[in-house]
Amino acid sequence: MAQGAVFLDRDGTINEDTGYVSDPEDLVLLAGAPEAIKRLNQEGIKVIVVSNQSGVGRGYFTESDVRAVNERLEKLLLLDGARLDGIYYCPHRPDEGCPCRKPEVGLIERAAVEHGIDPERSFVVGDKTDDVYMAKRAGAKAVLVLTGKGAEEKEKLDKDPDFVARDILDAVTWILRDKEAK
Ligand SMILES: [Mg+2]
Ligand SMILES: [Zn+2]
Repeated sequence: MAQGAVFLDRDGTINEDTGYVSDPEDLVLLAGAPEAIKRLNQEGIKVIVVSNQSGVGRGYFTESDVRAVNERLEKLLLLDGARLDGIYYCPHRPDEGCPCRKPEVGLIERAAVEHGIDPERSFVVGDKTDDVYMAKRAGAKAVLVLTGKGAEEKEKLDKDPDFVARDILDAVTWILRDKEAK
């Protein structure tokens, strides 16, 4: 039977959102991110990053820049003993109408097939309305973090997330408790 996973947004959730993060050297992990991911690793819960990177479609940077930032992210996390099971991103602009840009569920669907994940037993953690809406469309539970753009995005939400967390570590603490309660 397929397991649930935790889908994490990248910018503003795991690392600082400095606006179209494209230089690996600019990548700064948010406090508690390695610890949060490590806890999920220890519980045997898959951790998958799902990220909108429209800077590619807008011509601000290339897919190889995205991959370089993602490699740096994995490396920094590993230095703290935290491991990602997968990273998926959408390189398109919003006006391209692709099926993979959040709040569409294309990234989750791809990960679900490749990793044997049941989206309906999963959680999405992110700092934007699109993260919350993707979770709802996929039948997953939505956790909004107040890091990154979270505080301002919270005001725009017209659907309630299942939990509002201070940060990623608070989010994971809630997720592990919620799973235990099942
Ligand atoms: Mg974000
Ligand atoms: Zn896309």
